[in-house]
Amino acid sequence: ADQAMYEVKNSGRNGWYFYTKEMQLRSEHRHRLYNDLVAAIRDDQLSVHLQPILTTNSQKVIGCEALARWQRADGSWLSPAEFVPFAEETGLINQIDYLVMEKAADALREINCHRELPISLSINVSPRLFHTKDQSLERWMELTRKISKELPVTVEITERLLIEQTQKITETLNELANMGIGISIDDFGTGYSSLSYLTRFPVTGLKIDRSFVDGIGTNSSSEPVIETILAMASKLNIHVVAEGVETQAQLDYLRQLECDYVQGYFFAKPMPVDEFTALLQRNHGRH
Ligand code: C2E
Ligand code: MG
Ligand code: MG
Repeated sequence: ADQAMYEVKNSGRNGWYFYTKEMQLRSEHRHRLYNDLVAAIRDDQLSVHLQPILTTNSQKVIGCEALARWQRADGSWLSPAEFVPFAEETGLINQIDYLVMEKAADALREINCHRELPISLSINVSPRLFHTKDQSLERWMELTRKISKELPVTVEITERLLIEQTQKITETLNELANMGIGISIDDFGTGYSSLSYLTRFPVTGLKIDRSFVDGIGTNSSSEPVIETILAMASKLNIHVVAEGVETQAQLDYLRQLECDYVQGYFFAKPMPVDEFTALLQRNHGRH
């Protein structure tokens, strides 16, 4: 009965459901996933992969995005698409965001001490962090402050966060901006994309969503959207990263439009830290 009630609540309340076997299975699956994820965090089974971000013009690596990866006890890999939404629902995401940042910063500190120009770190943060009543946000801010003194950092937020416009969110973003941290809107163009965010919050960058890049040359509405985002960002002095670049034709198009940065499988997939270090050495030789 309890499970049927939850089903009603999840489907927008004020309705009814009978209990089914599927509900039971789903609930057991979630329960197992929760226990596994808690254990993964405790036993250090989560790791970070880095994906290079390059200048569009000369394809020089100037930064990287840190992406969480989960290798399960049986050796299989789970992608963030499978566990990040669940981790957000259950609040475990705050611990994940903290440890991804910690691990990524450890890696970049090591990488940057051999370089003249530091590689910057882009990190994803869940809107959930701004809503917790425990000390998660404070802990995360403390770590971010420390890391921002050691290397250039950009925090990737989603539009979901900005539509809420609470005082806590505004204050936190301003505080980050005052530490010299970049604030970039991820998956730009897929949410509300209200222009008022770009001036009301200290936004320094936009990431054009992969779906638009994918439509270059194939979907007639993608190109006008990309061109409009680029024109707007240029007027507002906001830099732009195009996500999900997979072909030479997409790169050529973005270069011709003077999009600042590119990221995507055409250059490299997200990879373990040692592979990223090797890639930097190769990339360095070309510049
Ligand atoms: P995102 O932040 O937009 O990250 C970009 C995603 O696009 C990554 O997926 C990356 O592997 C994928 N990608 C990059 N280039 C290409 C390409 O050329 N083609 C295609 N098809 N895909 C490409 P990933 O690693 O599976 O992550 C998915 C999402 O999960 C991320 O989207 C981000 O929203 C979330 N996520 C990942 N790690 C974290 C984390 O540590 N904390 C939080 N809060 N969210 C995370
Ligand atoms: Mg991102
Ligand atoms: Mg994205």
